[in-house]
Amino acid sequence: MNRLNKNKKWKIMIVDDEREVHKVTRFVLDDYSFMGKQPELISAYSEAEARKLIRKHEDTALILLDIVMEEENSGLKFVRFVRDKLKNYFVRLILRTAYPGQAPEEEVIFKYEINDYKDKTELTDKKFITSVTAALRSYSDLLTIDSYRKNLEDKVKERTSELEKKNRELSALNKELERLSTTDALTGVFNRRHFNNVIDTEIKRALRYNHYLSLIIFDIDHFKVINDNYGHTAGDNVLINITALVKKNIRESDLFARWGGEEFIVLMPEININEAEIAAEKLREIISGFRFHEAGYVTSSFGVTQFQKTDDCKSFIKRADDALYNAKSSGRNTVMAGPP
Ligand code: GH3
Ligand code: MG
Ligand code: MG
Repeated sequence: MNRLNKNKKWKIMIVDDEREVHKVTRFVLDDYSFMGKQPELISAYSEAEARKLIRKHEDTALILLDIVMEEENSGLKFVRFVRDKLKNYFVRLILRTAYPGQAPEEEVIFKYEINDYKDKTELTDKKFITSVTAALRSYSDLLTIDSYRKNLEDKVKERTSELEKKNRELSALNKELERLSTTDALTGVFNRRHFNNVIDTEIKRALRYNHYLSLIIFDIDHFKVINDNYGHTAGDNVLINITALVKKNIRESDLFARWGGEEFIVLMPEININEAEIAAEKLREIISGFRFHEAGYVTSSFGVTQFQKTDDCKSFIKRADDALYNAKSSGRNTVMAGPP
């Protein structure tokens, strides 16, 4: 609730079962004002009535409270109600009693933040006004501090959500950067850099678990002629279409990358050379059977090999490359396997 400076007057509640006390209090505060605001006096004649009224006027600044009303401890019960039940820690409390023996214990005064405790006979006009003024000042300070706190809290929330937004943007950007650094811009398949990062891991795995690992390298036949005859864009479209065809026809676990120009590479974990040859033959057929929009029919040559225990990454790839060379020299549009 925003209590701050909304009221044009200080709401002051008099809680006392003696009508005379109300009369005198009203008389004393008749032309009182503090910080340019006058009091609005609210009267409750019992604890029960005070409970009702404080619920209704939760922006009350000060309660002038009689300790003994219906019961010996009505006043203190009301204090507990205000602080513990309503969680109203703002309203200031001045206890007044005609029976000095009823003074609440110090602990209560601390715990419930009671501003003042006065014997009614002590309350000459001047002393009373001083007490009221001190209480209202304290109330006003509390509200000011609270509004600063809320303001600060709002600012922190705002900054936090800004930061969260920035972090989300940053992480999306990082993801995009990661994607860009691992993929080929034209075809969207993995690039050579990424392939080189992954092949080492796959070799280690194949060695550790004694699993098969095979490799296909293929190169488009007479690609230069396609560029020359139909233009570079037509060549690009062939590259794009071929990668789409290949992607559709290999396994999820295969690693497909653009090796360079019009040369591609497929790493096949758990696959032996015979299965890899079959896979390559299938790709050869699919590519050669596809009619490209501008370039018409295009063929490719394939080199296949299987990883050997004595291989490293280089010798493994070189054997596939040699097989591809053989495929080219034996007339292209064919699959050749390097000796395992
Ligand atoms: P071979 O059958 O012996 O492989 O002959 P080829 O013409 O395919 O091979 P060559 O290496 O002589 O020519 C490859 C061509 O591929 C030359 C190069 O300009 C072209 N090329 C490389 N990258 C791209 C690309 O991203 N887009 C296009 N359109 N052409 C490319
Ligand atoms: Mg070529
Ligand atoms: Mg080439």
